[in-house]
This record gives sequence, structure tokens and C-alpha cells, in this order.
Amino acid sequence: MVKKNNQSTSTVDFETLKSDDSSYVMHTYGRLPVCFVKGQGLKLWDEKGKEYLDFLSGIGVNGLGHCHPAIVEAITKQAATLIETSNLYYTEPQVRLAKKLAEISGFDKVFFCNSGTEANEAALKIARKAGKKTSPDKSGIIALNGAFHGRTFGSLSATAQGKYQDPFRPLLPGFTYVDPEDTTGLQLAVNKNTCAIIMEVIQGEGGIHPLSTEFLQLARSLADEFRAILIFDEVQCGFGRTGHWWAFEGAGVKPDVFTSAKALGGGFPIGACIARGDAADVFTPGDHASTYGGNPLGASASLAAIETIENEHLLDNAKEMGEYLRKKLQDVLGSCIKEIRGQGLMVGIELSKPIARGVLMSALEEGLIINAIGDSVIRMLPPFIVSKDDIDKAISILSEVII
Ligand code: PLP
Repeated sequence: MVKKNNQSTSTVDFETLKSDDSSYVMHTYGRLPVCFVKGQGLKLWDEKGKEYLDFLSGIGVNGLGHCHPAIVEAITKQAATLIETSNLYYTEPQVRLAKKLAEISGFDKVFFCNSGTEANEAALKIARKAGKKTSPDKSGIIALNGAFHGRTFGSLSATAQGKYQDPFRPLLPGFTYVDPEDTTGLQLAVNKNTCAIIMEVIQGEGGIHPLSTEFLQLARSLADEFRAILIFDEVQCGFGRTGHWWAFEGAGVKPDVFTSAKALGGGFPIGACIARGDAADVFTPGDHASTYGGNPLGASASLAAIETIENEHLLDNAKEMGEYLRKKLQDVLGSCIKEIRGQGLMVGIELSKPIARGVLMSALEEGLIINAIGDSVIRMLPPFIVSKDDIDKAISILSEVII
């Protein structure tokens, strides 16, 4: 299974790199023992030239695979023209991207930033400011247990998981947490002082748990009743991953504000907070800003990603390949699987035994990149260009290491 590609061997001395990483990079990541030096499509190569099949896409970032020619061309051209000016001035790619995002979402206005957590900060600030206009006490935010919204303090305060929150308390005041699918809990939590309800349509880091349409509809109706802003975090599940541009389209429930990042830039960092109706006009000059937000380089990469997804019909491919992947997983590995969750190319495989970490390490050894969430969930987020052949190869490696 393990292939070599001699073109990809590099001069990196991995042992020295690991030692320098340990000395000079803050220890926030439990890294896996591999150093990638090159990527193309679904393939990655390490410094020794070993080839890997990437079914994680940089945690959902490389929707078009690695170094898609359209993204490379857009970045290269833009880098040679204009990289960044700050938001004191107009730049064309940013405005074109906002217009395009409005077109593919049916929403009205966009605030640009550089990551998922910042996109959620913007959404929470819109809700707090909108709430304050009604009453000084309208500042409560409802979030879901098991959610993941990011690591900055606002997003972290919405990320109801002790392992992320506990070392950093006190968090922001005003957050209440409800279990996913707890309809009574949600009804009891939302009141006239609620300014926002925030949730992922499909919880990603929490183990790939889609919310039911009924629960999303309840959140929508409570937000309407109490004039709160409904925020959907589409950072992981959005921008084509489910086979829809946005996961909420699949669920048929529209938020007031949603956030996007990860795949939005085709591998280049960019985030967006996208709003409709009154929520789109809450911010006024000085309320919020990002020096790099919507810079020409990121905006050009994102425009190229959207155009490629449209031209290459990748939403359809994500849907079809998602179904094929699920069927194959069930056919070949059914006896080892408790449940397959998610939608399109956002796939969580709950194994019947708590061996996810071991499976991940053995798969890596065999040249397949996947991810583990907790002890028993394998996560796959392959790029939208994935083919049946890639899926067959991935399942063949998985079956070798699982069965
Ligand atoms: N929201 C969701 C649903 C995510 O999955 C993530 C990251 O995994 C974030 C927010 C934070 O994104 P970032 O790491 O770009 O800040």
C-alpha cells in the first residue's frame, strides 16, 4: 500500500524539525509523527517521499484537494498584483466575494475575517448589539452541550465542553447550555432576555452529530417568538461539504446569521459571518473590524473555490460520493460499525469498540489520513473532488487495519 514518489523527497531532517518544534513552538498541538512537504489532489507526501491518501483535507479545509490549479492560479495572480491594503480602503476581490456569497446563500451582507472562531465572534457581537437595542438585559446566549465554536473567549464561552473551557474560566457571562435534541430544555432556556441561539447544524468536533430538523425548527420558532438571532455555525459543515452550499439548506431551516471558514478559501485562511434582514445592518463603522479580513489574496482564493465548485459540479459529487462512501463502509466494515453519521462528505463512523485512536495510527502507517474523535469515532472529511476509486482505496486500507 505504501507508495514512494521520488519527486517529493525533501531536504527536511525530521528529527531536527521535531526537536526545534518542541523547543520553539508552543505546545498546543498533540502532533502525529509525520511531516508533510507536498500535496496534490487527494495525495500528500512526507519528507521521505511516502505517499498518503488524504481523507481529512486539513480538517475540512481543502475542499478542492491540495493545490487545485484554480486556487494556485488565483493566489499566484493576486499575490503578484495586490496582497493586502487593510479595510481602510475598497478592494475589488472582497466586494465580488461578498456579492457571490450573497448570491449562493440568499443572504444580504457579509463581514470578513480570517478563521472560524472570529466568524463566530462577529455573529455573537451582532446578536449582543441587536439585543441591547431592545433592552439592556437582552444579552443571553443559548448554546448546545457538545458544541465546538472556537477558542477565542466569545466562541469558547459558546463551546460547552469542559475540556476546552475549564482551564480558562471565568468565561463571558450570559451563556446557557442545553443538550442537543432537548426540546423542553430549549423551550425553558429561551426567554425575552435571550439575544441569540447558536448551534452547528451538524456538530463536528462533538462527534459528527446532525441536529434533527424538528430541533432546528424549534430553535427557529423560539428565536422568532422571543426576537432572538438564530446563528448557525457552518464553519465545518458548510461550503459544500454536505452536498449543499450550506447544511441548513439540507435541513430546510434558515438562520438569521451563519458563519463560514475552513473550506471557504480552498485551503487559504478566510472566515465570514453572513447575515440577512435586520441582522445584516446591525454593525455600524467602528463596531467590529479585522485588519486582514477579506484581504485580496484570501478573497481571490475563495472566489476561485466557488467558481470551481460550480464549474466542476462538486456539490453533486459531494452528495454522490458521500452516499457511495457510506454504502461501502456499511458493506465492507458493517460488522465493526455501530453507526455512520453525518451528511455528504462529513462522515462520522462510530465503531463498536473503543479503538479509534489505534485505527487512526495504523491507517496513517498504511498511508491513509483520517481522524479520531474520542475513543470510538472515526471522522472523514475528504475533499469534494473525491472519486469512487479513492473511496475504494481508503476502504481497502481501513478494512486491513480494522478487521
Ligand atoms: N466552528 C466549528 C464548527 C469548527 O469545527 C471550528 C474548528 O474546528 C471552529 C468553529 C473554529 O474554527 P477556527 O479553528 O478556524 O477558528
